[in-house]
Amino acid sequence: MKTLDWNTLFGKGAGRIQASTIRELLKLTQRPGVISFAGGLPAPELFPKEEAARKAAEILKEKGEVALQYGPTEGYGPLRTWVAEWIGVKPEEVLITTGSQQALDLLGKVFLDEGSPVLLEAPSYMGAIQAFRAYGPRFLTVPAGEEGPDLEALEATLKRERPRFLYLIPSFQNPSGGLMPLRARKRLLEMVMAQGLVVVEDDAYRELYFGESRLPSLFELAREVGYPGVIYLSSFSKILSPGLRVAFAVAHPEAITKLTQAKQGSDLHTPVLNQMLVHELVQEGFPERLSKIRATYRAKAGTMLEALDQEMPKGVRYTRPQGGMFVWMELPQGLSAEALFRQAIAQDVAFVPGGPFFAGGGGENTLRLSYATMGPEGIVEGVRRLAKALKRLLAL
Ligand code: PMP
Repeated sequence: MKTLDWNTLFGKGAGRIQASTIRELLKLTQRPGVISFAGGLPAPELFPKEEAARKAAEILKEKGEVALQYGPTEGYGPLRTWVAEWIGVKPEEVLITTGSQQALDLLGKVFLDEGSPVLLEAPSYMGAIQAFRAYGPRFLTVPAGEEGPDLEALEATLKRERPRFLYLIPSFQNPSGGLMPLRARKRLLEMVMAQGLVVVEDDAYRELYFGESRLPSLFELAREVGYPGVIYLSSFSKILSPGLRVAFAVAHPEAITKLTQAKQGSDLHTPVLNQMLVHELVQEGFPERLSKIRATYRAKAGTMLEALDQEMPKGVRYTRPQGGMFVWMELPQGLSAEALFRQAIAQDVAFVPGGPFFAGGGGENTLRLSYATMGPEGIVEGVRRLAKALKRLLAL
């Protein structure tokens, strides 16, 4: 059979699209018996399996001609209206997307040219780095910690550079779990308003707060002062089901129109049946569902922190998340999280090494632990195994 050298046939940009080394590492975590803190997967016990089965059957029976037909690119009308009311905007300011992941790709498509500066936190969401990288931008990073991005560093960068947008996850950041306090949100907004910059606020974890209430989003704060430059992303992945791939972008109608045009070329529209199902599932008992999800993750985070407090040797630092799905850990300087990963896999426990979350390199001694997927026994046992792996590494 004739062979082809595909790499000479792909376009110039294809070289920028690569398998992430981390996803390759993560394949090892799927071995039976491995306790995995690696994936960012929501707790499967929270999925609305029965309601979804019932509602999907009803939709198909009663509105099958809509559910199975092509739909508008902007989204299924009733869901778009529901999201608009939930977020407090007009329907024309909402675009339903196929996961927030698609919104990230569309933003890259619409805003980035080869070499365009784009500003991210370090660390930041790997899927966003991957989505933007395909468009060949120049990544600018500012360090981020438990209270979000370092605003001094941000100010210094904005004196020198004019990024096409700032991509931020102000609440329960993936991977660091960081939460930007209200004051920091306001100060950041002042900085971007002064220069008329666009902020992409990724609020995938908006409902997963452990305290009494949610902090106002950058988007809400910007609206209060009449600034149109914040593009807000959120998703039903963490509060209903990630497999349905239903999420939304909220922005000024001009930005929504352009993103909608970009989406047309991408997938015409998000599957109508999935959108209708989400719309049905939020009609009944939604606030109660959110409370249950918060309570579940709060309890899991508590279990993991208690186990870490008991098991971790001195010199290992980790965050105490106030929401979301992750604990972020820093090993003593000089220790490599990838080396720990190899020890950990031998002990049948897995996590994600932090390095790939840093768009500009670094972070080799960091790692992310997700407490979302495991039950309490799994969490405790996994932390015990992790401590054992760490002690082995320290003894090497
Ligand atoms: N943004 C962040 C910060 C995430 O953590 C994730 C998923 N883990 C996404 C976006 C993608 O979410 P979706 O399932 O809506 O595509």
